[in-house]
Amino acid sequence: MINPFEYFATSVGAEIDFVRAEKRRGRGVVGIYCEFTPRDLILAAGAYPICLCGSSRKTIPPAETVLPANLCPLIKSSLGYILTNGCPFFSMADLIVAETTCDGKKKVWELIRDRKPQHILELTQKVQETEAWEHWLKEVGKLKVRLEELYDSPISDGALREAITTMNRERALLRAVMEYGAEARPVISGLELGRLRFRVSGMPEHHRRLAELAEALEERKRKGVFAAAENAPRVLVTGCPMSEGTLKVVEIIEEAGGIVVVQETCSGIKPLDPVSGEGDPLTAIAEKHFRIPCSCMTPNTGRLELLSKLAGQFKAHAVVDLVWQACHTYNVESFQAGEFVRRELGIPYLKVETDYSPGDREQIMVRIQTLLEMTR
Ligand code: SF4
Ligand code: SF4
Repeated sequence: MINPFEYFATSVGAEIDFVRAEKRRGRGVVGIYCEFTPRDLILAAGAYPICLCGSSRKTIPPAETVLPANLCPLIKSSLGYILTNGCPFFSMADLIVAETTCDGKKKVWELIRDRKPQHILELTQKVQETEAWEHWLKEVGKLKVRLEELYDSPISDGALREAITTMNRERALLRAVMEYGAEARPVISGLELGRLRFRVSGMPEHHRRLAELAEALEERKRKGVFAAAENAPRVLVTGCPMSEGTLKVVEIIEEAGGIVVVQETCSGIKPLDPVSGEGDPLTAIAEKHFRIPCSCMTPNTGRLELLSKLAGQFKAHAVVDLVWQACHTYNVESFQAGEFVRRELGIPYLKVETDYSPGDREQIMVRIQTLLEMTR
């Protein structure tokens, strides 16, 4: 049997088989594109939430036949999968739950609305205001009604609590593995951690394999098997989300002799807070997701607080801010992030604006090497 590291690096095949079998047994399938979308609620409706964000360069040219080339590669790659019928999960989905985060995504939903039923969550962007919270709570309530209608079955509080337990376990397992990056000498590399994010949530085999992975890391600790040289500069990566296939910047940092100890991103630790087990479960689900410090919010002070907390916990020597080309919100916010990291945290900061192509690898390598030099 393959080890848990290999399992997650190649898990897409197992996920497709699992979802096909579950669909035949009557379970639902819901595609999602953002960490604001509450997976707990979808699970409670008897469906599997599946992240459909694109991480392949190959699907970008087909997307550019309808989208401007100067758009975020994550959006182009995601749409390209749909246009080329390249995503079996999209084909199997009963519903797409999308959201109004950045302008690019928001407008792309209009291009696919004749292909699948869709539900748009309207995100409130002034998260500090009471009205914003009230609006978001209503939006989550509307999604609950939509799912109840779709599957012709009410979602009980008991089902919500059960789904919260499942998702809290998934988040805790992921978090526990990611927290090995905080060790004085990490036993897992940023690249291995980057390959951990999977598409289908609530899949029991993933949970079993995550627990196995934590055991494998304990074993590495016992045997003194480390992921980097003793004095390797510890890098915190922030900014846009990455996944298998788009880990170029993490690869370069580690090829240059550094180690990525944590990702403060939606593909890292940012969305892994638990949902509270107290009070009304739907409100608790809405509350957890409302707190995600995404650059689509204004002001997004929660990101600076999280950067500060993670830089301390993971003992970061430097911060690399990954901005996908034409991601205006993260691009503009990087000025504040850079000022904060240099002035308040007192460590070097580098913004890397790039896309999914390998063409700028050497140029990025030179800049990362200079950054790592600054930490010595
Ligand atoms: S960065 Fe923002 S838009 Fe992207 S997945 Fe995270 S919350 Fe959603
Ligand atoms: S990386 Fe930026 S532009 Fe791309 S989908 Fe996420 S928020 Fe939108």
